[in-house]
Amino acid sequence: SNRVETLEFQAETRQLLQLMVHSIYSNKDIFLRELISNASDALDKLRLESLIDKDLQVDTSDLHIAIEVDKEERTLTVRDNGIGMSRDDVVRLIGTIAKSGTAELLQKMKESKDAAASQELIGQFGVGFYSTFMVADRVILRTRRAGEEGGTRWESTGEGTYVVEDVEDLPQGTSVTLYLKPEDAEDQLFDYAAEWKIREIVKRYSDFIAWPIRMTTERTDEAGATTQDVQTLNSMKALWARARNEVEQAEYNEFYKHISHDWSDPLETIHMKAEGTFEYEALLFVPNHAPFDLFMREGKRGVQLYVKRVFIMDDCEALMPNYLRFVKGVVDAHDLSLNISREILQQDRQIQAVRRRLVKKVLSTVKEMQAEHADRYRTFWTEFGRAVKEGLVEDVDNRELLLDIISVASTHDANEPTTLRQYVERMKDGQKDIYYMTGESRAMIENSPHIEAFRAKGYEVLVLTDPIDEVWVEQIGAFDGKSLQSVAKGQVDLDSEDEKADTEPEREQQKKDFAPLLSWLTEKLTEQVKEVRLSSRLTTSPACIVGDAHDMTPTLEKMYRAMGQ
Ligand code: ADP
Ligand code: MG
Repeated sequence: SNRVETLEFQAETRQLLQLMVHSIYSNKDIFLRELISNASDALDKLRLESLIDKDLQVDTSDLHIAIEVDKEERTLTVRDNGIGMSRDDVVRLIGTIAKSGTAELLQKMKESKDAAASQELIGQFGVGFYSTFMVADRVILRTRRAGEEGGTRWESTGEGTYVVEDVEDLPQGTSVTLYLKPEDAEDQLFDYAAEWKIREIVKRYSDFIAWPIRMTTERTDEAGATTQDVQTLNSMKALWARARNEVEQAEYNEFYKHISHDWSDPLETIHMKAEGTFEYEALLFVPNHAPFDLFMREGKRGVQLYVKRVFIMDDCEALMPNYLRFVKGVVDAHDLSLNISREILQQDRQIQAVRRRLVKKVLSTVKEMQAEHADRYRTFWTEFGRAVKEGLVEDVDNRELLLDIISVASTHDANEPTTLRQYVERMKDGQKDIYYMTGESRAMIENSPHIEAFRAKGYEVLVLTDPIDEVWVEQIGAFDGKSLQSVAKGQVDLDSEDEKADTEPEREQQKKDFAPLLSWLTEKLTEQVKEVRLSSRLTTSPACIVGDAHDMTPTLEKMYRAMGQ
């Protein structure tokens, strides 16, 4: 039976589509990049599946992408003979936006009334397939999943609903046909039915795509005879295999957008090649903003593994540690089996060596950024600092390097975070330790009585407000031979020997005077505290609660309690 269903787009999808239909994104050309990118992914998947499953009944002899134009109908079709989609896939993948963070994005867009800001947001988010509605008022997708009999047709005008239907006799793979908006026909800039326009867009955005992107062009000679000519529009050169000095930054940027599904340029590009016993090429990118799912459990890592130009897997956790999960890119290793599994990769010594080199390279790139491009480093730190600090705990081998590149807020300057090195350089004569305080917010820390004596002394205190801060300061313990000392723990001894000698008699007297009060308080508060003692740390507050030197800090206590321990 031919099941025809009219389904509603998910509410969030509908809102995004609204934005697309009314084209808030000024660079409409990129719809073609998105379609080609999807087609290329589908071809990668098919090739891989056919390599792994030898029984799969599919034709992989001429994998390619075709662009077809019908000038009369004003349609543009992008076709691939890749993996295709089942009917369920279509409803799941095309009818809904699975991307985490969609709701937050829409909320932000609603809040910012300003069009440029919305444009920026959508640019950061990327909308893939839906970008077709910037240039088309009707889109038809036809697809047949490799190895399956029946196909599916999907159609929508990008308003509230779409129609899915079973269809017979479709070739394997996917075709997407756009009915171009008539109003664009008048403007040469947006004439997506024009050959030169398509050629230009493909060259600019998709030249590196590893599959041929073909277009059939028609020429009519003076006698009226038409001849057809099939041309390949892209050079198909794997960017990572080319010499660094032969690749333009613009090409790197487009490649980054293809693999990351991001719409903005990367912050840093790292291109490296290793020769010798284990040959590989790596092309890595540090994005210029954090993904929405950076701190979500199922968040993905961004490095793809290729073996001699063949795509093997996305999200290759063996190549990048968790704390650098935001790094995107490609590693092409020459001497691995195409069938390699994730489990085997994790154990592979060569891969472990590659990973060590990649991590070192990423961290040293950040260090260079810090030294030479302060503004870029700042962006990096704002976006990824919280994740990078996890490395202080996870990655013992690179602790030194990590300690060099981290920044933390401090009482020195409310607007400018400091490196540990800069803190040490500002330390006062006679200051032995690096002081810090952890807490939920800067305001809470600054108003805390614990900090009073330090402020009075003019000592700088690091203001640590991320939950991970608790963990690394404990584990690291010291920097540059100076111990990291919490202002909220144990006995603080801020006075020098001379000062102590001066105040000694007075202190003895105070101890005597206050002895009855202290023992009375200790008795009264026996359930709540271990001891009540006279303190020299306060200047204006009458009392404060401190932890024992070996106790957990309040935030850590809360964290453990939240984890049910
Ligand atoms: P993204 O590519 O970022 O996942 P898209 O909106 O571009 O988002 O595509 C959504 C999903 O639809 C893809 O992840 C893929 O699973 C599926 N898809 C899109 N185009 C194709 C295609 N040509 N062949 C097979 N699957 C496709
Ligand atoms: Mg896509």
